[in-house]
Amino acid sequence: MTDAINRTVSPQKSPAETGELEIRPRTLEEVIGQDQVRSNLKILIGAAKKRGEAMDHVLFYGPPGLGKTTLAHVLANEMGVNIKVTSGPAIERAGDLAAILSNLRAGDILFIDEIHRLGRAVEEILYPAMEDFALDIVIGKGPAARSIRLSLPRFTVIGATTRLALVTAPLRARFGALYRLDFYDLSAMRKIIDRGAGVLGVAAEEDGIQEIATRARGTPRVALRLLRRVRDFAQVRADGRITGQVTRQALDLLNVDPSGLDDVDRKVLSTIIEKYNGGPVGLNTIAASISEEPDTIMDVVEPYLLQLGFLDRTPQGRIATARAYHHLGLPYTAKTQPTLFEE
Ligand code: ADP
Repeated sequence: MTDAINRTVSPQKSPAETGELEIRPRTLEEVIGQDQVRSNLKILIGAAKKRGEAMDHVLFYGPPGLGKTTLAHVLANEMGVNIKVTSGPAIERAGDLAAILSNLRAGDILFIDEIHRLGRAVEEILYPAMEDFALDIVIGKGPAARSIRLSLPRFTVIGATTRLALVTAPLRARFGALYRLDFYDLSAMRKIIDRGAGVLGVAAEEDGIQEIATRARGTPRVALRLLRRVRDFAQVRADGRITGQVTRQALDLLNVDPSGLDDVDRKVLSTIIEKYNGGPVGLNTIAASISEEPDTIMDVVEPYLLQLGFLDRTPQGRIATARAYHHLGLPYTAKTQPTLFEE
């Protein structure tokens, strides 16, 4: 099985990526791109400060690596409060969440990554906590059991998810603000890479920055990872400067093509085209064909292929577009009668 997490272009965090915090922006001013989200957050912060209250609960959604965690830390910094970081799968039992909640102080932020993966029993503790700032605890068992309600300080939940559709309706309803993060445009990507090069202390030429920006899939995490790899290459194979030519050589060696696709992306496209006649074909079938998890394809591969217009999503399944054929150098024949492959 290919390990999609270890791809150079994976937007997911790899365990080896330490020191990332040095590159993270700390204030809203330093955050690059996402202008609309940023303006909205400014208002949210301003209003909360004016009222002297905790901020409204905020839910960020969008593909991985676009800055959800970063924004949560920026908000804590801007509000001057503590942030407790956890994630849906890390909170196994209702008691774990109760323990976290009862340790929060007024104004604190509780950041829950992958909030769509919270268990049901855990979620039920979260509802009254978010709505009424109350913790319901059951004491005793059987007929003698009784429930007592503890009050919590006013705090803020910041949730992050790559799958808004999997967040239950009651949980979603408890967030006052919902923001979608989108892929970054080229000019924002260039600024992020330029800033990253500054933090890493490497000399990067305009041409090199542009080349990384176009291959980084509109995703800051990928951009910063490619920047590190290109820096290594420049130090070993050149004089340490990140020029256009050095960047192209380094990224070609990593098999990241000029559109930012790597082997896994190309395999997904060529499977649809060569095995399934261009589609439509179900996601699970594609995943099984290339020994990959359907979740990985959905979270990590597909959003960028859709964004590039290489893939179409139809009720019958995924279809490779003419652009995808062209990109892979395959002849495209428009189909009149789509073949149906069931999931
Ligand atoms: P997510 O939580 O959405 O997976 P992160 O917040 O962990 O993404 O961001 C991934 C990386 O990209 C971090 O190293 C962060 O510093 C960087 N990053 C994200 N958004 C921005 C931005 N707007 N400006 C600069 N760097 C960013």
